[in-house]
Amino acid sequence: MPGPPSSRRPWAIALLASLLALSGCHAGGRAVEVDTVVLISIDSLRADHVGVLGYGRPTTPTIDSLAERGIVFTRAYSTTSWTLPAHVSMLTGLEAEAHGVVGIKSTIPASIRTIAERAKRSGVETAGVYSGPFLQPAFGFDRGFRTYADCSGIDHDGGGGGVDWVDRPDNHRIAHTRVTNPCVRREVEAWAKGAPREGKRFLFVHLWDVHYDYAPPPGYAEVFDPDYRGDTDFSNLTGNPAIAPQMSPRDLRHLLALYDGEIRWTDDTIAGILADLDAAGLLRRSVVVVTSDHGDEFFDHGGKGHQATLYEEVLRVPLVVAWPGGPAIARRSDEVVSLVDVAPAICRWLALDCADLGAGGSLSGAEMPRADRRRDDALAHLALPFFGDLRSRIGGDTKVVESSQGTIEFFGPPAYPRSDRAPTATVGRKDLSQAPAVVRDAVRAMDARVASARERAPREAVPGVRPTAAIDDATRERLESLGYLPNGGSAP
Ligand SMILES: [Zn+2]
Repeated sequence: MPGPPSSRRPWAIALLASLLALSGCHAGGRAVEVDTVVLISIDSLRADHVGVLGYGRPTTPTIDSLAERGIVFTRAYSTTSWTLPAHVSMLTGLEAEAHGVVGIKSTIPASIRTIAERAKRSGVETAGVYSGPFLQPAFGFDRGFRTYADCSGIDHDGGGGGVDWVDRPDNHRIAHTRVTNPCVRREVEAWAKGAPREGKRFLFVHLWDVHYDYAPPPGYAEVFDPDYRGDTDFSNLTGNPAIAPQMSPRDLRHLLALYDGEIRWTDDTIAGILADLDAAGLLRRSVVVVTSDHGDEFFDHGGKGHQATLYEEVLRVPLVVAWPGGPAIARRSDEVVSLVDVAPAICRWLALDCADLGAGGSLSGAEMPRADRRRDDALAHLALPFFGDLRSRIGGDTKVVESSQGTIEFFGPPAYPRSDRAPTATVGRKDLSQAPAVVRDAVRAMDARVASARERAPREAVPGVRPTAAIDDATRERLESLGYLPNGGSAP
C-alpha cells in the first residue's frame, strides 16, 4: 500500500504548513488553538507493519485515516528497545542516556519533570490510562496525572505490583496473556464523559495488547491467515522453543499473522476511543499523536521479541501527528525524529513552559518543536542485564551500533530505506583510526551525542543502574574542538 510521494520537508516546515492550512491563516497568521492533546502509545508496534508506512495488509485503517489529517513521520525512532525507558523518553523529552531509567527496577528521578507534571502545573486537566506492568505508578509514570487508570491486571493488593513485579512469574503470564484493550476503552470513555468542558486537556493512552504473546481475539486471529491448518502452540513467545529461527516458514507466516491480528484489534480499539472522544466533543480542537515505544524482532537478526538489539525492527516506530478537526493534510516527513520530540511538541500545543526542553517559540512561527533543534538524528541506548550496553545513532544516511565490548557496526550510506540487516562495515573501537572517514565521522557524531545527552542526566542516582559517567574536561575540549558542543552541551 504505497503512500503519497514523500515531500522530504523538514518537520518544522511540514508542521508549519499544516498548521497554517488548519487555521486558514497566511504568513504571520495566528497560532492554531488546541485545547486537547491525546497521546496514544501502542506497545511493541514496529513501523513496517503500519499501512501508511507501506505495509501491504490492512492492519491500521484508523491510523492511516488519522494520517490523512496530519503528518506521518517515516523515520521516527525510539530511544531504546523496551517499554520502561522508551516511555520515560516519550513523556519527558529525554534520551535514555539522559534520564538514566534503564534498569528493570529503575524509577523516574524526582528532578525530572514529566509532560503530565508540566501540564498539571499549568492547570491542564491530565489523565492517563495504562495497560502494561512497566507503566505502573511505582516507576513514576503517574506523576502529574489527576487520574491514572490501571488496566494491566496486576494484583496490587496481593503484593504483585510495584517495581518488584518482575520477580513474580505469574505476573509475566498475566501481562502476556491478558486482554486489556476493552478496559482501556472503558476508562477513556469514562474520563471523556466527565472531563471538564473548559480549559485544556492532556490524555495519555497506553495500549498493550500488541505486545507478545500474540493472541488476538476470535475473528482477528483468522483475518490475516485464514488458511492456516497447523497445530503449533504460539503462546509463551519468549520461552517457547517452537518459536525459533528454524521454525517452518509457514509457521512463521502464521506468527506474523497473529501479530498483525493484534495490531488490527488495537487499531479498531483506537477507532472506538476516538469515537468516544468525539462524542464527548473533545476532538474538535485536538491534536492526536499515535506512536509506539519499540518494535519486535521476528528473527530479522536471529532473535524474537525485543530488549536485545538496537536494529531497525525494534527501533523504528510509527509516529503520526493528526488534527482530527482540521482539513485533510496528509503530509509525510522523512526527517529523522525521535520519541524525545514528542514531549516538546505537546508543550507547544498546550502552551506550557518547557524552555529547558528547547521548546520555546510559537507554533505559528518557523520554530521546530523538538527536544534539541541542533540535531537531526536519533540516539538509542540499551543496558543489557548480563551482556553490557549497546548504543546507536541514526543520522542522515548512516547508522552506528556499538557494543560495550567496543565492536562497532556501521550501516550505509544510504542507510535508509535500506534495511540494516547486514552492516556495511564492522570495526573495533581500538582500530577506529584505520577505518574509512565516513565510519570515523559517524562514530564521532555518536560519541558527541552520548556525551551531550549525559550532561542532561539527573543529579541524583537512578535506582537499579550504575551511575552515568560524567563528561570529563579532556573529552569536552576534544568535542568542542570538533564543533560538537557549540554551547558546551548545556543541561537543565
Ligand atoms: Zn514496550
